[in-house]
Amino acid sequence: MLNVATMEQQWKYLLRHASPEAATFLKVLVETHADEFARRFYEVLLKDAKASPFIAHQDVEGHLSSSFRRWITDLLTRLDADDVPHLIEEQRRIGVVHARLGISVELVLRASRYMKEAILEAIIGFPVHVRGRYRSAILAMGLVDVALEIMSAQYVASHDDATRTDEAYRNFAATMNMSLEREYQRTALSDWSNRLLQDVMIGGQDTPLSRLCQSSFGLWIRHKAPAIFTNQSEMESVRTSLETVDEELLPSIEAALMADNAADVRRLTRFAMSEIEQVRTLLDSLFDHLVRLEAGSDALTRLLNRRFLPSILGREIALSRNKSMVFSVLMVDIDHFKAINDRFGHETGDRVLQHVAQILSRLTGSGDFLFRYGGEEFLIVCAELDARKAFSVAERIRLEVAAKGVELGDQSRVSLTLSVGVAEYDGHPDYQHLLRNADQALYEAKAQGRNRSIIFSKDVHKIAGE
Ligand code: GH3
Ligand code: MG
Ligand code: MG
Repeated sequence: MLNVATMEQQWKYLLRHASPEAATFLKVLVETHADEFARRFYEVLLKDAKASPFIAHQDVEGHLSSSFRRWITDLLTRLDADDVPHLIEEQRRIGVVHARLGISVELVLRASRYMKEAILEAIIGFPVHVRGRYRSAILAMGLVDVALEIMSAQYVASHDDATRTDEAYRNFAATMNMSLEREYQRTALSDWSNRLLQDVMIGGQDTPLSRLCQSSFGLWIRHKAPAIFTNQSEMESVRTSLETVDEELLPSIEAALMADNAADVRRLTRFAMSEIEQVRTLLDSLFDHLVRLEAGSDALTRLLNRRFLPSILGREIALSRNKSMVFSVLMVDIDHFKAINDRFGHETGDRVLQHVAQILSRLTGSGDFLFRYGGEEFLIVCAELDARKAFSVAERIRLEVAAKGVELGDQSRVSLTLSVGVAEYDGHPDYQHLLRNADQALYEAKAQGRNRSIIFSKDVHKIAGE
């Protein structure tokens, strides 16, 4: 845990020992050399496979180097003790961002080592004689180190938090009506294998066989199961079986069908069935080993609590980077919900929220994640859907709600509409960027008169005035 008071003392100690000459010299140095320091720093980050996609995405020349310039300028030239609390906050914020992006402490320390070298070279090689050169070197190194200490401590704290949230999600998922989920997935798997048998037996020679990974079971295995089950080896076996079925057995069956080789078709189909049987057994054992612990759904709607958002989006981002898969998010907000509360009362408002949550669950896919994002706002993570397809989902939800409203069980019905912002993951490793895009699109939907879905684009950005 970061001890802010100690860090403040450390920082102020450095400042007390700074001479006025050293301070003036550092100001000049930063003005003349900040770009060189930035270059040396980012050179190291760009070589790192994990960090470089982020850096590349951010445009080193423009945005990043100006924020780096601000950072190093503040660090080396704001030498007033009163500024220290603010500067500490700033280093902590950077640590949090690094943790979110998975830019490790080691990497930042390494990049900083090169940057420190550049600072020292600039001090030593400064062309004119300056007083306080020696002290300014000590001061600059001390300030960079103290900033890094704070960033690292904050990184570790945030990273631990994220790991705990990850863990909490697993535990939560474990308590989430798992017997129902188990039955549901068993049925999804059987549906798929029945269909395969049907296609093989009564389909024509050139019937394409639908792939297991594209079924609702396949989606669930890819997106939800890894978030629920910790047992890596069993999950790995499930994935291997799925691959064997999709990539070896199904193409061979298709070839045998084409060649009209009934014996091969039978033999290969038997193999496929036994793989499926194995998946079923693995699935049972995965569910059997689930540990039941703390719950964490939103009490009113039973949807996911938004504290799980970082771990879910982090996982989806990693998945889409590794497999170059798309995914999208929908930010759904009930229009004029305040008026519903005012007119029908808060309790009815609550029931409306529950019903909307049910409609969302019904109209989304089995690999999708549903969050209660705010009071009357919901966030849906649509696995493997691009913006167009996610837009169709949004429209289906929006149109159903607009057409039927929400029935409250006692025969009464509340009319309401939704506005939806749609954003496709664009490669940026920070999930907050994606959420901001969806939010912009939602803002635009509201601005254009509500009861509509809007896909985020750079133009929306502009209209929304950012
Ligand atoms: P807009 O179309 O711009 O979204 O208007 P709005 O009225 O939906 O939005 P606004 O943000 O002004 O108001 C949201 C309201 O939602 C205010 C708050 O009282 C209500 N609300 C938030 N959480 C709950 C809840 O859990 N239950 C109920 N009944 N109301 C809630
Ligand atoms: Mg609203
Ligand atoms: Mg709202």
